[in-house]
Amino acid sequence: MKKETICIQGGYVPGNGDPRQIPIIQSTTFKYDSADEMAKLFDLEADGYFYSRCGNPTCDMVAKKIAELEGGTAALLTGSGMAANLLAFFNIAGAGDHVVSSSTIYGGTYNILSTTMKRMGVECTFVDPDCSEEELNAAFKENTKFVFGETIANPALTVLDIEKFAKAAHSHGVPLIVDNTFATPINCNPFKFGADIITHSTTKYMDGHGAALGGCIVDSGNFDWTKYPEKFKDLCTPDESYHGVIYTEKFGLGGAYIAKANAQLMRDLGTVQSPFNAYILNLGLESLPVRVARHCENALAVAKALEENPNVTWVNYAGLPGNKYYDRAQKYMPNGTCGVVSFGIKGGKPAAEKFMAALKVASIETHVADARTCCLHPASTTHRQMTDEQLIEAGVPGDLIRYSTGLENAEDLINDLNQALASI
Ligand SMILES: *Cc1c(COP(=O)(O)O)cnc(C)c1O
Repeated sequence: MKKETICIQGGYVPGNGDPRQIPIIQSTTFKYDSADEMAKLFDLEADGYFYSRCGNPTCDMVAKKIAELEGGTAALLTGSGMAANLLAFFNIAGAGDHVVSSSTIYGGTYNILSTTMKRMGVECTFVDPDCSEEELNAAFKENTKFVFGETIANPALTVLDIEKFAKAAHSHGVPLIVDNTFATPINCNPFKFGADIITHSTTKYMDGHGAALGGCIVDSGNFDWTKYPEKFKDLCTPDESYHGVIYTEKFGLGGAYIAKANAQLMRDLGTVQSPFNAYILNLGLESLPVRVARHCENALAVAKALEENPNVTWVNYAGLPGNKYYDRAQKYMPNGTCGVVSFGIKGGKPAAEKFMAALKVASIETHVADARTCCLHPASTTHRQMTDEQLIEAGVPGDLIRYSTGLENAEDLINDLNQALASI
């Protein structure tokens, strides 16, 4: 099936007399006739549900739809995008390990890698995503466990050379994890270009209505953990916390990674998505192809108008001919990039603040990828913990405005931008 059809009908095939829409199974627990039956579920011997922290039918149906959209073999919903990245990372890296990440990534994810994972004993080397292959290869160590990057970085809007990163990861025997939040599976399928695991903040375009926080991890099933049993011991040797199950043997290459993330990490960390949020997410998924196309169309119109405005010093949008990433975007996402545009304002920070206060249609929000247009000055909000040096390294200069184009009328948005820019 094509993506439009999967968005509507994927993940759930109702039987005779079943609800047409994915139903909300808002129950913490599930009833069984015998202790023996339940024991089989606990031992991962049988399929079924017993407690919603360890699995819920609504969440599983929506996860299955996202797996189908990405062309993956298995998926797991999480309570937020941050939880998706944390679980995806921690599932294969622990104390004493090392990882490699693009430096231009979401501020929260940068903090997971630079601070929280560090406290758990995982060291991260950040690399410029546009570094040479030699520089990238030089970042690896004996104990490197994965490589990470964002398809389109939030908020730097760099477009990842997925094939370059996948090649380096695979030549060092580790998987490439890609956060595909901004491109969405509608515009890009990173598995086609060598990524092994995909994460999403479903809070963004997938929900798209500013209504439900959530995340998702998808496995391609392509990475062969059993080729490196020493490196990925937890996937290839008995899990004593689960009666000695060996994930790669029991669930195969297509299921091992997600089964472990769920059975072990979700059980212990409990960062579940609620069935109600999964239901809302699914409503968003149904219209995702229609909305993403409109977001991209509006963003291109806004980017072109900004380019012509004398109070704008630079415009960054990979869908704009002449952009540094235009050709790469055409290769990885020929149908469009995303709805987020960034630009620099003449007069720096004070002008940026004046400009934001003058906006009437776009609102000031710590959010992106929503039906409503929103605008942010990262250096004074999401990225304020960073030093000036880190800001440059993360691709977020002090004069950068992040503008997330919504689904409003493009002319209204452009008029609003022009009047706010005239006010500075
Ligand atoms: C928003 C975002 C996240 C974090 O997601 P939450 O749902 O806010 O936890 C991670 N990665 C990217 C690229 C994001 O835009």
